[in-house]
Amino acid sequence: MIRLSKSIVGKLEKEALSQVIDESYLGMGKFVREFEEKLREYLGVRCVICVSSGTAALHLALIGAGVGVEDEVLVQSLTYIASFQAITATGAKPIPCEVAPETCTIDLYDAERKVTERTKAIMPVHYASRVGKLDQIYDFARKYNLRVIEDAAHAFGTKYKGMKVGSSEYLNYSTSQLLNRSTIVCFSFDGIKNITSGEGGAVITDDDNVARFVMDASLLGVHRDTEKRYKGLRSWEFDVFHQGYRYHMSNLFAAIGIVQLERFEKELKPKRQMLAKKYHEKLKNVSEIILFPDDYSEIVPHIFPLRILDNKRDGLRAYLLENEIECGIHYFPNHLLTYYGNKTGELPVTEQIYRELLTLPLHPDLTETEQNYIIEKVKKYLNA
Ligand SMILES: *Cc1c(COP(=O)(O)O)cnc(C)c1O
Repeated sequence: MIRLSKSIVGKLEKEALSQVIDESYLGMGKFVREFEEKLREYLGVRCVICVSSGTAALHLALIGAGVGVEDEVLVQSLTYIASFQAITATGAKPIPCEVAPETCTIDLYDAERKVTERTKAIMPVHYASRVGKLDQIYDFARKYNLRVIEDAAHAFGTKYKGMKVGSSEYLNYSTSQLLNRSTIVCFSFDGIKNITSGEGGAVITDDDNVARFVMDASLLGVHRDTEKRYKGLRSWEFDVFHQGYRYHMSNLFAAIGIVQLERFEKELKPKRQMLAKKYHEKLKNVSEIILFPDDYSEIVPHIFPLRILDNKRDGLRAYLLENEIECGIHYFPNHLLTYYGNKTGELPVTEQIYRELLTLPLHPDLTETEQNYIIEKVKKYLNA
């Protein structure tokens, strides 16, 4: 079976893990500090706080931005359940919005119709590593005085107008547009993302208050515990000012993350881009396929979704599976889940696109032979 996605780990990650085990301290300590430092260097930013997952990063970023009970957060329905769960975890209500079909990022016309006096924030999801119309999102956020919390789980390494998502330039750019309220960018390092730490995530911000809050809140709210743990110390007498969570990253996970970051620019990123370019090139003339933009020099694709027209998605998916090719569907719309209302017909564009979406295998271990085989089978089924 050709896998849809995969953790790309091996000898180097094993060695890094052994080193942590040899040092016998698996909790939050010097490896986490080193991973954060390397991420800071890579992005050229002041504040990177690593946490236990991308979902935890979103949850803390939302609270840090002041989102809570009775607030509303605008978010596209077509996203991983994590975006929605992070919002409801704060007590706020996710307001599901349509997507723009060309990129599957949030449709601001629809979002605008859904603004109320309770709207506190907007969460753009960088679907398939594309940030969408970010300038318009900033304009929109400024107009309605909203905080922006970016779900950049797919977008590690991706550039927008030449600026890396989450880099200092990128944050400065947003700060200037948002009148001194910067965006907060959240990454995921779960097993199959552009880089992995096993499980993990990070909050990137240049807002010191948000950074301070996230640091303390990720260690059960213990005031300034982060600095102590970096030095291998513990807090025995301390104060707590707000609700906290057990969301810190462990040394084991950070050790994997450090190696992955080292492998990223030279190995993992170009491989993902190369595979996506080839898919695009080979499938662009198939009449029943709609591809997303060919921007694979700017973005680092986490997944390769496409749209299959004429109700052929399910048939193609079954055919590929028969031929030992695993595919995905990103994503089942969240507004159709029981917990989020399950009102069919509420978002017709999203519901239609959902029926067309199919994700082809994309991960740096995919071989040329495997990719050729996938392309051949897709074309064969569609008589192209
Ligand atoms: C992976 C992902 C997350 C959450 O990250 P975890 O690290 O798995 O908690 C959030 N949003 C999107 C769009 C994702 O793909």
